[in-house]
Amino acid sequence: MSEEEPELIPAKWIEIYHYCPRIIYYMGVLGARERETAYMREGRMEEECEEEKEKRRKTLLAKRKEKVIEKWTNLKLYSQKLGIVGVVDMLVKTEEGLKVVDIKNTAKKKLSSGYLYQTTAYAILAQEHFKKPVKNIIIYYTKNDKIFEIKITDQIKEHTIWTIKRIKEIIEKAKMPKTKRKRQCKGCGYYHLCRGL
Ligand code: SF4
Repeated sequence: MSEEEPELIPAKWIEIYHYCPRIIYYMGVLGARERETAYMREGRMEEECEEEKEKRRKTLLAKRKEKVIEKWTNLKLYSQKLGIVGVVDMLVKTEEGLKVVDIKNTAKKKLSSGYLYQTTAYAILAQEHFKKPVKNIIIYYTKNDKIFEIKITDQIKEHTIWTIKRIKEIIEKAKMPKTKRKRQCKGCGYYHLCRGL
């Protein structure tokens, strides 16, 4: 990447946007970083050792019983066109084609929209990189053993691209998005900045 090229947005910010768009303002405009709360710690896996991550990947693949022809792990991908960068936890080639796998350290009951659009962004990145269609994503919740396999529709893809545009807009215009006080505020690591606004 040359120095003139604009900074790429981490794909993880797509998930954050769906948690609360105001956090994008705090991170992308003010350069603030969260105070880690117990709630946020739940989802954090970056510090986990590779050995542990590999164990989780193996558990997931064994549960699915789908033949894996080839697999890639910790695959760093970026797209200048989209303006994002991300590390794909696992990409597998199966008889149905390429699938992106994202492992989340959570016990949520439902598939969260943030995870859906973040993983779809990885699929778009992988598709651009391999020049092959990536039609499915798999999201695995480790704490309750839930596996979601989703076929990426045009609508999901369009909403992912829309989210990326919104993130860029917040950063470029440096305008704090409006939000309502909500359930997420309780566990938010930016509450100390937001309080009273
Ligand atoms: S405290 Fe609430 S409104 Fe403020 S950034 Fe966090 S989730 Fe968003």
